[in-house]
Amino acid sequence: MKDIILTGDRPTGNLHLGHYVGSIKNRLKFQNQGDFDKFYIMIADTQALTDNADRVDKVKNNIIQVAIDYISAGIDPEKVTIFIQSLVPELFEMTSYFMNLVTVSRLQRNPTIKDEIKQRGFVKSMPVGFLTYPVSQAADILAFKSTIVPVGEDQLPMIEQTREIVNSFNYTYKPEKTVFAMPKAILPESAVCKRLPGLDGKVKMSKSAGNAIYLCDDKATIKQKIMSAYTDPNHIKVSDPGQIEGNIVFSYLDAFCEDQHFAKFLPDYKNLDELKAHYQRGGLGDVKVKLFLNNIIQELLAPVREKREYLIKHINDIYEMLFENSKKASLVANQTLTEMKDAMGLDYKKLLK
Ligand code: ATP
Ligand code: MG
Repeated sequence: MKDIILTGDRPTGNLHLGHYVGSIKNRLKFQNQGDFDKFYIMIADTQALTDNADRVDKVKNNIIQVAIDYISAGIDPEKVTIFIQSLVPELFEMTSYFMNLVTVSRLQRNPTIKDEIKQRGFVKSMPVGFLTYPVSQAADILAFKSTIVPVGEDQLPMIEQTREIVNSFNYTYKPEKTVFAMPKAILPESAVCKRLPGLDGKVKMSKSAGNAIYLCDDKATIKQKIMSAYTDPNHIKVSDPGQIEGNIVFSYLDAFCEDQHFAKFLPDYKNLDELKAHYQRGGLGDVKVKLFLNNIIQELLAPVREKREYLIKHINDIYEMLFENSKKASLVANQTLTEMKDAMGLDYKKLLK
Protein backbone atom coordinates (compact mmCIF):
# COMPACT_ATOMS: atom_id res chain seq x y z
CA MET A 1 0.00 0.00 0.00
CA LYS A 2 1.21 3.49 -0.79
CA ASP A 3 1.82 6.11 1.87
CA ILE A 4 -0.71 8.52 3.30
CA ILE A 5 1.00 11.80 4.13
CA LEU A 6 -0.25 14.35 6.64
CA THR A 7 1.43 17.49 7.84
CA GLY A 8 0.35 20.94 8.95
CA ASP A 9 1.07 24.34 10.39
CA ARG A 10 -0.50 26.60 12.98
CA PRO A 11 -2.08 29.75 11.53
CA THR A 12 -0.27 32.01 13.99
CA GLY A 13 1.49 34.03 11.31
CA ASN A 14 2.98 33.76 7.86
CA LEU A 15 5.30 30.91 7.00
CA HIS A 16 9.02 31.53 7.29
CA LEU A 17 12.32 30.08 6.08
CA GLY A 18 12.27 27.56 8.97
CA HIS A 19 9.06 26.11 7.53
CA TYR A 20 10.55 26.14 4.06
CA VAL A 21 13.62 24.03 4.87
CA GLY A 22 12.05 22.15 7.80
CA SER A 23 8.94 20.89 6.14
CA ILE A 24 7.82 22.52 2.88
CA LYS A 25 10.83 21.29 0.88
CA ASN A 26 10.05 17.70 1.83
CA ARG A 27 6.38 18.27 1.05
CA LEU A 28 7.29 19.51 -2.42
CA LYS A 29 9.53 16.48 -2.94
CA PHE A 30 6.71 14.07 -2.06
CA GLN A 31 4.18 16.04 -4.08
CA ASN A 32 6.36 16.08 -7.17
CA GLN A 33 7.34 12.41 -6.90
CA GLY A 34 3.61 11.64 -6.71
CA ASP A 35 4.25 8.30 -5.05
CA PHE A 36 1.51 8.45 -2.39
CA ASP A 37 -2.05 7.37 -1.87
CA LYS A 38 -3.31 10.60 -0.21
CA PHE A 39 -1.59 13.81 0.83
CA TYR A 40 -3.20 16.11 3.40
CA ILE A 41 -2.00 19.45 4.74
CA MET A 42 -3.92 20.70 7.75
CA ILE A 43 -4.11 24.32 8.87
CA ALA A 44 -4.18 23.78 12.63
CA ASP A 45 -6.41 26.62 13.81
CA THR A 46 -7.72 24.77 16.88
CA GLN A 47 -4.18 23.97 17.96
CA ALA A 48 -3.21 27.62 17.43
CA LEU A 49 -6.01 28.66 19.82
CA THR A 50 -4.44 26.63 22.64
CA ASP A 51 -2.01 29.49 23.21
CA ASN A 52 -4.02 32.23 21.51
CA ALA A 53 -7.46 31.88 23.13
CA ASP A 54 -7.96 35.66 23.24
CA ARG A 55 -6.61 36.21 19.72
CA VAL A 56 -9.24 34.51 17.61
CA ASP A 57 -9.01 37.17 14.91
CA LYS A 58 -5.27 36.64 14.55
CA VAL A 59 -5.75 32.89 14.09
CA LYS A 60 -8.75 33.32 11.78
CA ASN A 61 -7.00 35.85 9.52
CA ASN A 62 -3.85 33.79 9.28
CA ILE A 63 -5.67 30.76 7.82
CA ILE A 64 -5.77 32.36 4.39
CA GLN A 65 -2.24 33.69 4.82
CA VAL A 66 -0.86 30.22 5.45
CA ALA A 67 -2.88 28.78 2.54
CA ILE A 68 -1.48 31.47 0.23
CA ASP A 69 2.03 30.76 1.52
CA TYR A 70 1.63 27.07 0.69
CA ILE A 71 0.44 27.64 -2.82
CA SER A 72 2.96 30.36 -3.55
CA ALA A 73 5.76 28.08 -2.30
CA GLY A 74 4.66 25.45 -4.82
CA ILE A 75 2.09 23.26 -3.06
CA ASP A 76 -0.51 22.24 -5.64
CA PRO A 77 -4.07 22.09 -4.26
CA GLU A 78 -4.97 19.72 -7.11
CA LYS A 79 -2.58 17.13 -5.69
CA VAL A 80 -2.75 17.92 -1.99
CA THR A 81 -5.88 18.24 0.18
CA ILE A 82 -5.41 21.43 2.20
CA PHE A 83 -8.05 21.73 4.93
CA ILE A 84 -8.93 23.57 8.15
CA GLN A 85 -8.69 21.60 11.42
CA SER A 86 -11.73 23.10 13.19
CA LEU A 87 -13.98 22.16 10.24
CA VAL A 88 -13.32 18.47 10.94
CA PRO A 89 -15.15 17.97 14.26
CA GLU A 90 -14.42 14.21 14.29
CA LEU A 91 -10.86 15.09 15.30
CA PHE A 92 -12.04 16.44 18.63
CA GLU A 93 -14.17 13.41 19.45
CA MET A 94 -11.17 11.20 18.75
CA THR A 95 -9.04 13.44 20.97
CA SER A 96 -11.43 12.83 23.89
CA TYR A 97 -10.97 9.08 23.69
CA PHE A 98 -7.19 9.35 23.25
CA MET A 99 -6.90 11.59 26.31
CA ASN A 100 -7.78 8.57 28.47
CA LEU A 101 -4.73 6.75 27.15
CA VAL A 102 -2.13 9.39 28.09
CA THR A 103 -1.04 10.49 31.55
CA VAL A 104 -0.55 14.10 32.64
CA SER A 105 3.05 13.35 33.64
CA ARG A 106 3.77 11.97 30.17
CA LEU A 107 2.57 15.23 28.61
CA GLN A 108 4.64 17.24 31.08
CA ARG A 109 7.76 15.34 30.03
CA ASN A 110 7.37 16.30 26.35
CA PRO A 111 10.53 18.35 25.64
CA THR A 112 8.91 20.59 23.00
CA ILE A 113 6.01 21.38 25.33
CA LYS A 114 8.52 22.14 28.11
CA ASP A 115 10.37 24.64 25.87
CA GLU A 116 7.14 26.22 24.66
CA ILE A 117 5.81 26.59 28.23
CA LYS A 118 8.89 28.64 29.10
CA GLN A 119 8.80 30.61 25.86
CA ARG A 120 5.14 31.53 26.27
CA GLY A 121 5.34 32.33 30.01
CA PHE A 122 2.94 29.48 30.88
CA VAL A 123 4.98 28.29 33.87
CA LYS A 124 2.21 29.16 36.35
CA SER A 125 -0.86 29.49 34.15
CA MET A 126 -0.92 26.94 31.40
CA PRO A 127 -4.20 26.34 29.57
CA VAL A 128 -5.25 22.66 29.74
CA GLY A 129 -5.69 22.72 25.97
CA PHE A 130 -2.06 23.69 25.52
CA LEU A 131 -0.72 20.83 27.62
CA THR A 132 -2.91 18.36 25.75
CA TYR A 133 -2.30 19.57 22.19
CA PRO A 134 0.04 16.63 21.47
CA VAL A 135 -2.98 14.34 22.02
CA SER A 136 -5.10 16.33 19.61
CA GLN A 137 -2.21 16.28 17.15
CA ALA A 138 -2.18 12.48 17.43
CA ALA A 139 -5.86 12.51 16.43
CA ASP A 140 -5.05 14.70 13.42
CA ILE A 141 -2.45 12.20 12.26
CA LEU A 142 -4.38 9.02 13.07
CA ALA A 143 -7.76 10.13 11.69
CA PHE A 144 -6.29 9.94 8.21
CA LYS A 145 -4.33 6.74 8.89
CA SER A 146 -1.21 8.69 7.97
CA THR A 147 2.00 6.75 7.51
CA ILE A 148 4.33 9.69 6.84
CA VAL A 149 4.52 13.06 8.59
CA PRO A 150 7.10 15.52 7.14
CA VAL A 151 8.11 17.84 10.00
CA GLY A 152 10.91 19.79 11.65
CA GLU A 153 12.77 18.35 14.62
CA ASP A 154 10.64 20.07 17.29
CA GLN A 155 7.78 17.82 16.21
CA LEU A 156 9.55 14.50 16.90
CA PRO A 157 8.15 14.21 20.45
CA MET A 158 4.64 14.67 18.99
CA ILE A 159 5.09 11.82 16.55
CA GLU A 160 6.52 9.68 19.36
CA GLN A 161 3.45 10.50 21.47
CA THR A 162 1.22 9.51 18.55
CA ARG A 163 2.99 6.17 18.20
CA GLU A 164 2.55 5.52 21.92
CA ILE A 165 -1.16 6.25 21.59
CA VAL A 166 -1.47 3.70 18.78
CA ASN A 167 0.26 1.08 20.95
CA SER A 168 -1.84 1.96 23.97
CA PHE A 169 -5.05 1.85 21.91
CA ASN A 170 -4.14 -1.56 20.51
CA TYR A 171 -3.17 -2.86 23.95
CA THR A 172 -6.33 -1.54 25.64
CA TYR A 173 -8.95 -2.38 23.03
CA LYS A 174 -7.30 -5.20 21.05
CA PRO A 175 -9.04 -4.34 17.78
CA GLU A 176 -9.76 -7.33 15.53
CA LYS A 177 -8.90 -5.28 12.45
CA THR A 178 -6.15 -2.67 12.47
CA VAL A 179 -7.66 0.79 12.89
CA PHE A 180 -4.59 3.06 12.92
CA ALA A 181 -1.42 3.02 10.87
CA MET A 182 1.87 3.58 12.70
CA PRO A 183 3.08 7.03 11.53
CA LYS A 184 6.70 7.90 10.81
CA ALA A 185 8.27 11.37 10.96
CA ILE A 186 10.27 12.48 7.95
CA LEU A 187 12.91 15.07 8.80
CA PRO A 188 15.11 17.09 6.47
CA GLU A 189 18.47 15.44 5.82
CA SER A 190 20.72 18.32 6.80
CA ALA A 191 21.11 19.07 10.52
CA VAL A 192 20.60 22.83 10.22
CA CYS A 193 17.32 22.37 8.32
CA LYS A 194 15.85 20.19 11.05
CA ARG A 195 15.74 23.23 13.34
CA LEU A 196 16.67 26.43 11.53
CA PRO A 197 17.77 29.03 14.11
CA GLY A 198 16.11 32.44 14.34
CA LEU A 199 17.77 35.73 13.38
CA ASP A 200 18.54 36.36 17.07
CA GLY A 201 20.63 33.18 17.22
CA LYS A 202 18.87 32.12 20.41
CA VAL A 203 15.99 29.74 19.63
CA LYS A 204 14.59 28.12 16.49
CA MET A 205 13.11 30.43 13.88
CA SER A 206 9.47 30.66 14.88
CA LYS A 207 6.43 32.83 14.29
CA SER A 208 5.88 33.24 18.01
CA ALA A 209 9.46 34.35 18.74
CA GLY A 210 9.50 37.24 16.20
CA ASN A 211 12.89 36.14 14.81
CA ALA A 212 11.89 35.02 11.32
CA ILE A 213 12.37 35.86 7.66
CA TYR A 214 8.92 35.30 6.15
CA LEU A 215 8.27 33.89 2.69
CA CYS A 216 6.16 37.01 2.02
CA ASP A 217 8.72 39.59 3.24
CA ASP A 218 9.51 42.26 0.67
CA LYS A 219 12.96 42.76 -0.80
CA ALA A 220 13.98 45.59 1.52
CA THR A 221 12.77 43.76 4.66
CA ILE A 222 14.68 40.60 3.74
CA LYS A 223 17.86 42.61 3.24
CA GLN A 224 17.41 44.56 6.46
CA LYS A 225 16.83 41.33 8.44
CA ILE A 226 19.87 39.60 6.94
CA MET A 227 22.11 42.61 7.52
CA SER A 228 21.11 42.64 11.20
CA ALA A 229 21.45 38.85 11.73
CA TYR A 230 23.54 37.57 14.64
CA THR A 231 27.10 36.61 13.64
CA ASP A 232 30.27 36.23 15.71
CA PRO A 233 30.37 39.02 18.33
CA ASN A 234 34.20 38.75 18.53
CA HIS A 235 34.64 39.25 14.78
CA ILE A 236 35.02 43.01 15.02
CA LYS A 237 37.63 43.93 12.41
CA VAL A 238 37.66 42.32 8.97
CA SER A 239 41.12 40.93 9.73
CA ASP A 240 39.90 39.14 12.91
CA PRO A 241 39.49 35.36 12.65
CA GLY A 242 35.76 34.53 12.73
CA GLN A 243 33.69 31.73 14.25
CA ILE A 244 31.37 29.64 12.12
CA GLU A 245 29.69 27.78 14.98
CA GLY A 246 26.62 29.61 16.26
CA ASN A 247 27.04 32.18 13.45
CA ILE A 248 23.53 32.48 12.03
CA VAL A 249 24.64 33.76 8.64
CA PHE A 250 26.71 30.62 8.11
CA SER A 251 23.85 28.45 9.43
CA TYR A 252 21.62 29.97 6.75
CA LEU A 253 24.31 29.43 4.13
CA ASP A 254 24.49 25.77 5.21
CA ALA A 255 20.74 25.56 4.67
CA PHE A 256 20.36 27.47 1.41
CA CYS A 257 23.69 27.80 -0.41
CA GLU A 258 24.61 25.60 -3.36
CA ASP A 259 27.86 25.62 -5.36
CA GLN A 260 26.13 27.28 -8.31
CA HIS A 261 25.42 30.35 -6.14
CA PHE A 262 29.15 31.08 -6.01
CA ALA A 263 29.54 31.19 -9.77
CA LYS A 264 26.55 33.52 -9.90
CA PHE A 265 27.04 35.83 -6.91
CA LEU A 266 30.53 35.36 -5.44
CA PRO A 267 32.94 33.96 -8.07
CA ASP A 268 36.05 34.53 -5.89
CA TYR A 269 35.16 31.28 -4.10
CA LYS A 270 34.26 27.85 -5.46
CA ASN A 271 32.17 26.60 -2.60
CA LEU A 272 31.04 27.13 0.98
CA ASP A 273 34.05 25.33 2.45
CA GLU A 274 36.39 27.89 0.86
CA LEU A 275 34.28 30.79 2.14
CA LYS A 276 34.18 29.32 5.65
CA ALA A 277 37.95 28.74 5.67
CA HIS A 278 38.59 32.38 4.72
CA TYR A 279 36.22 33.62 7.43
CA GLN A 280 37.92 31.44 10.04
CA ARG A 281 41.38 32.62 8.95
CA GLY A 282 40.39 36.26 9.11
CA GLY A 283 40.24 38.82 6.31
CA LEU A 284 36.59 38.32 5.33
CA GLY A 285 34.02 40.83 6.55
CA ASP A 286 30.47 40.03 7.72
CA VAL A 287 28.97 42.46 5.22
CA LYS A 288 30.34 40.56 2.23
CA VAL A 289 29.00 37.26 3.57
CA LYS A 290 25.63 38.80 4.42
CA LEU A 291 25.28 40.35 0.95
CA PHE A 292 25.99 36.94 -0.59
CA LEU A 293 23.33 35.32 1.62
CA ASN A 294 20.94 38.14 0.74
CA ASN A 295 21.35 37.38 -3.00
CA ILE A 296 20.58 33.70 -2.42
CA ILE A 297 17.48 34.35 -0.32
CA GLN A 298 16.20 37.06 -2.67
CA GLU A 299 16.51 34.67 -5.61
CA LEU A 300 14.59 31.98 -3.69
CA LEU A 301 11.77 34.24 -2.50
CA ALA A 302 11.19 36.52 -5.52
CA PRO A 303 9.02 33.98 -7.43
CA VAL A 304 7.16 33.05 -4.22
CA ARG A 305 6.30 36.73 -3.68
CA GLU A 306 5.21 37.10 -7.30
CA LYS A 307 2.82 34.15 -7.06
CA ARG A 308 1.46 35.56 -3.78
CA GLU A 309 0.57 38.83 -5.53
CA TYR A 310 -1.56 36.87 -7.98
CA LEU A 311 -3.18 34.67 -5.32
CA ILE A 312 -4.11 37.60 -3.11
CA LYS A 313 -6.56 38.64 -5.84
CA HIS A 314 -8.27 35.22 -5.71
CA ILE A 315 -8.91 34.85 -2.00
CA ASN A 316 -12.51 33.65 -2.36
CA ASP A 317 -11.45 30.78 -4.59
CA ILE A 318 -8.90 29.71 -1.98
CA TYR A 319 -11.47 29.85 0.85
CA GLU A 320 -13.89 27.78 -1.22
CA MET A 321 -11.17 25.21 -1.90
CA LEU A 322 -10.42 25.03 1.85
CA PHE A 323 -14.10 24.62 2.82
CA GLU A 324 -14.68 21.97 0.17
CA ASN A 325 -11.56 20.03 1.19
CA SER A 326 -12.49 20.23 4.87
CA LYS A 327 -15.79 18.48 4.05
CA LYS A 328 -13.86 15.72 2.27
CA ALA A 329 -11.44 15.41 5.20
CA SER A 330 -14.37 15.20 7.59
CA LEU A 331 -15.82 12.22 5.69
CA VAL A 332 -12.50 10.37 5.92
CA ALA A 333 -12.13 11.16 9.64
CA ASN A 334 -15.71 10.05 10.24
CA GLN A 335 -14.99 6.64 8.78
CA THR A 336 -11.94 6.23 11.04
CA LEU A 337 -13.92 7.42 14.06
CA THR A 338 -16.57 4.77 13.38
CA GLU A 339 -13.90 2.06 13.14
CA MET A 340 -12.32 3.36 16.33
CA LYS A 341 -15.58 3.33 18.31
CA ASP A 342 -16.40 -0.15 17.04
CA ALA A 343 -12.99 -1.36 18.19
CA MET A 344 -13.62 0.20 21.61
CA GLY A 345 -17.00 -1.47 21.89
CA LEU A 346 -18.83 1.88 21.74
CA ASP A 347 -21.18 0.46 19.12
CA TYR A 348 -24.54 1.18 20.79
CA LYS A 349 -26.56 0.44 17.67
CA LYS A 350 -25.72 -3.22 18.25
CA LEU A 351 -27.78 -3.07 21.48
CA LEU A 352 -30.97 -2.93 19.42
CA LYS A 353 -32.51 -6.41 19.27
P1 ATP B 1 4.54 28.84 16.45
O1 ATP B 1 5.62 29.76 16.93
O2 ATP B 1 3.19 29.45 16.43
O3 ATP B 1 4.58 27.47 17.11
P2 ATP B 1 6.16 27.86 14.33
O4 ATP B 1 6.98 28.89 13.63
O5 ATP B 1 6.82 26.99 15.37
O6 ATP B 1 4.89 28.59 14.92
P3 ATP B 1 4.54 25.68 13.45
O7 ATP B 1 3.27 25.97 12.74
O8 ATP B 1 4.48 25.34 14.92
O9 ATP B 1 5.52 26.93 13.24
O10 ATP B 1 5.36 24.51 12.72
C1 ATP B 1 4.94 23.93 11.50
C2 ATP B 1 5.98 22.99 10.94
O11 ATP B 1 7.18 23.70 10.59
C3 ATP B 1 6.44 21.89 11.90
O12 ATP B 1 6.67 20.72 11.17
C4 ATP B 1 7.74 22.40 12.45
O13 ATP B 1 8.60 21.37 12.88
C5 ATP B 1 8.32 23.13 11.24
N1 ATP B 1 9.20 24.21 11.68
C6 ATP B 1 8.81 25.35 12.31
N2 ATP B 1 9.88 26.12 12.59
C7 ATP B 1 10.97 25.45 12.11
C8 ATP B 1 12.38 25.73 12.09
N3 ATP B 1 12.87 26.85 12.60
N4 ATP B 1 13.21 24.82 11.51
C9 ATP B 1 12.72 23.68 10.97
N5 ATP B 1 11.41 23.37 10.96
C10 ATP B 1 10.54 24.23 11.52
MG1 MG C 1 5.58 25.65 16.61
